[in-house]
Amino acid sequence: MTATSHFLRETSYRALPPEFFAAATVSPAPAPEWVVFNDGLAAELGLPENAATPGLLQLLSGGPPSEGRENIALAYSGHQFGQWNPLLGDGRAAMIGEIVAPDGVTYDVHLKGSGPTKFARRGDGRATLSAMLREYIVSEAMAGLKIPTTRALAVVATGAPVYRETAHPGAVLTRIARSHVRVGTFEYAANEDARRNQGPVLTRALADHCIARHFPEFAGQKDGYLAFYASVVARQARLVAQWMLVGFIHGVMNTDNMSIAGESIDFGPCAFMDAYNRRQVFSSIDAAGRYAFNRQAPIASWNLARLAEALLPLFDDDDAVALRRAQETLEGFQPAYVAALGQGLERKLGLKPRDAANEDFIAGMWRLLENSKADFTLFFRRLTLFAAGSNAPAFLDLFAETSAETREEAAKFLADWRGLTAGDDFPSRLALMRASNPIVIARNHRVEQALNAANEGDLAPLLRLCAALKTPFEDPAPPEKPEDDLEAPPRPEERVVETFCGT
Ligand code: AMP
Ligand code: MG
Repeated sequence: MTATSHFLRETSYRALPPEFFAAATVSPAPAPEWVVFNDGLAAELGLPENAATPGLLQLLSGGPPSEGRENIALAYSGHQFGQWNPLLGDGRAAMIGEIVAPDGVTYDVHLKGSGPTKFARRGDGRATLSAMLREYIVSEAMAGLKIPTTRALAVVATGAPVYRETAHPGAVLTRIARSHVRVGTFEYAANEDARRNQGPVLTRALADHCIARHFPEFAGQKDGYLAFYASVVARQARLVAQWMLVGFIHGVMNTDNMSIAGESIDFGPCAFMDAYNRRQVFSSIDAAGRYAFNRQAPIASWNLARLAEALLPLFDDDDAVALRRAQETLEGFQPAYVAALGQGLERKLGLKPRDAANEDFIAGMWRLLENSKADFTLFFRRLTLFAAGSNAPAFLDLFAETSAETREEAAKFLADWRGLTAGDDFPSRLALMRASNPIVIARNHRVEQALNAANEGDLAPLLRLCAALKTPFEDPAPPEKPEDDLEAPPRPEERVVETFCGT
């Protein structure tokens, strides 16, 4: 055992049939340097203190694995913007091992931007520092919000330029995930099985792997594969509801970017919404709005239908029966999503759960958000402050620039809220509102500012932002300068309307 990797064990993906991966060639970075190392996550994973050694730096920059091990790149397919692509795979990523954390959960340790693999197609296998830091910020923001997500252990600058339109500093991200199996991995397995006309050999192997790792209670059970599918459906329904509750737009919900473990994964042109707009998209390549804010639940369900198609042969020997069972299970998505969203909104609004009057009030809330384009985060934050005893104007100020009609609608909303909550004997109201309405989110303009500064070698804004995102439900330290206010929405000139796929 070497000092650099004694906490890493061989990845369990190696036990899958060889079709599922390829050796990832090692391409060491010329001058690796730590940009960020996530001490908090390292501790959660049970890494030794002072784990960030020069040896680990080499390893996490794409350097050679120890003990004659070999890194692997995973094969997968995917529907990208609805288009079938039979072979994607980790074009610029490598699985370097696994960690069993003190909580007993096994996590993949995965490098992104570590060099071209067999699946690189025409890509260079590299990643820009900005793109990797963006994933670092957003995944840590998600974790702070207690939303299931892959995590980021480190970003290492490689010292080599990456060429997009111009030269950018290159970097490697270390991603920690419960799983890197995607819906697209199952599509790959099923497609290979069909191509070879060999029965569901690969599909079953992959499903067994996922069940053993994430749903051991279903192993060897009658209908275990269907129960596995139902669990994936339920997790995705909850996950998308959680995104909606914080105004998160994933941006590229291709089937290869949807995890079987129910974690948010692959943060490219994603963003938290400032002004409410249900049709908001951020990705510069999503002109049709396929992955807009209010499309995320139907798209998740569409992706899960692709997963069901791949799993069909495992559901029943009779095709018609298998299809019926898959459809029945997928029909569970919508009610699970609606329930998770409804419960979440009741908490955000401080409503007594499952009160008959809540539904109309919530429908009115969406109408008000739509008509006013109020800042999504501040809307709930100011309502929380109002519930805590602040004056109505702090909430109504949000609508100052809207039409007289909308201002009236806002005043009525507040009056209705008072009516609904007065004397309802619900002592946990304020605690629930405080715990579900973030004060600090990774606002787009702050992310851009942090990335621009990091590109110039100044990490202070990034570190400050990440520190605040760890505890998003707590008041941040008062800003030294007004431009450091992490709560405030962007001024018009700061607004970021689009996030380029600049990867
Ligand atoms: P993503 O948009 O990051 O989800 O990537 C979609 C697919 O393109 C995956 O198969 C990636 O491995 C691949 N890919 C993205 N960027 C690169 C790159 N610079 N070099 C090689 N493959 C890439
Ligand atoms: Mg991807």
